[in-house]
Amino acid sequence: MNKDQVIQALAPVAPPAAIRNAAVREGTVSLRLDAPTDRGDYDRFAMAAARAVANAAARAEQRIDSITVELADADARVVHGVTFPPARPPEPGHRPIQGLRNQSAQLQTNSLPGVRHAIAVGAGKGGVGKSTIAVNLAVGLARRGHAAGLMDGDIYGPSIPTMLGLEPLEPVVLRGMLQPFYVHGVKAMTIGKLVDPEKPLIWRGPMAHGAFKQLVEQTEWGNLDHLVIDLPPGTGDVPLTLAQLVRLTGAVIVCTPQRVAQDDAVRAARMFQQLGVEILGVVENMSYFVGDDGKEYDLFGRGGAEKMAARLAVPFLGAVPITMALRENSDAGNPTANFEDPERRASEHVRRAADALAGALENLVSNLQSQLSLAAVRQGATRPTLKIT
Ligand code: ADP
Repeated sequence: MNKDQVIQALAPVAPPAAIRNAAVREGTVSLRLDAPTDRGDYDRFAMAAARAVANAAARAEQRIDSITVELADADARVVHGVTFPPARPPEPGHRPIQGLRNQSAQLQTNSLPGVRHAIAVGAGKGGVGKSTIAVNLAVGLARRGHAAGLMDGDIYGPSIPTMLGLEPLEPVVLRGMLQPFYVHGVKAMTIGKLVDPEKPLIWRGPMAHGAFKQLVEQTEWGNLDHLVIDLPPGTGDVPLTLAQLVRLTGAVIVCTPQRVAQDDAVRAARMFQQLGVEILGVVENMSYFVGDDGKEYDLFGRGGAEKMAARLAVPFLGAVPITMALRENSDAGNPTANFEDPERRASEHVRRAADALAGALENLVSNLQSQLSLAAVRQGATRPTLKIT
């Protein structure tokens, strides 16, 4: 790209008069722009300018390694500066998606080289049990002998500290890197341990991007077979950041059976598809209620999420019942108990509910593993081997 192209690309964001400097050198774009009047707009404005340039470069099939945006006040003093991360050309086999391709391709990098499968867990809305499912998938994978991690990327409402019982633990930094906690056989990190738990977490777009990026890049994850990433609900900035930073094997969508939940889940699924992330499958949580008497009650319209998965032509990973035990074990920070041998439980009734839960979770983990293997083959990471004996 040359300077004129950069100025042209900036037109929707900053008129030529507001561009104090625009330089392009060996793949590095440096911009100095008039700062917006409101300080609160600095980050958003700088991000918009960088995106405009990145998109134009991608359209012109020009490679850019980094974009620095400086904002200057009326006296030409630089009052704010942001550098956007080095870009990498799209992965071979990466299927560009119209409209979003430019952004994600330009800023894409794989920040987790030691992780074989990064699995995002998303949901259309809050309260459907997304974090609960993320925790139990990670614990279930670890119980099968895999090196598993869990990243609490739900930066607006982290619940993993409670669900994994991390409250008494303090984060440790070694060699400048956060050391994940090791609990229930899983390496875990959460923003919930890095901020005041009582304070509301209000992140504006760029801050959310930064906080999430830190969790990914400044945690010493080491080598993992699976890293389960619990995302905030909905379709905000964080999934976009994630898709830019990490080469995901795919995403799991958690949904409850009701129609209203499905509509939101469809939007979440579409978002991943637009970001070029494969949907590994849909989980129907709170599918039905199992009382301690072992009886099953269809509260919310069991099978709704399964039908939605069929409609979207994505795999269905399984249904998880509502049980008292799952809620209690989550609140007590003891997910291991969800998988434990229900034979050890006191009464026949409680045993049946626990049995239903453990069976459902095992089934879920097993189906996820199958989908991961298929996705890895489809994405060219693994070749199928045929053994003839
Ligand atoms: P989300 O991450 O979607 O906001 P959570 O995983 O935090 O939802 O779950 C919300 C609440 O519902 C938690 O108290 C959790 O223990 C409870 N919960 C989730 N799934 C189940 C279930 N299948 N049975 C019983 N309680 C559940």
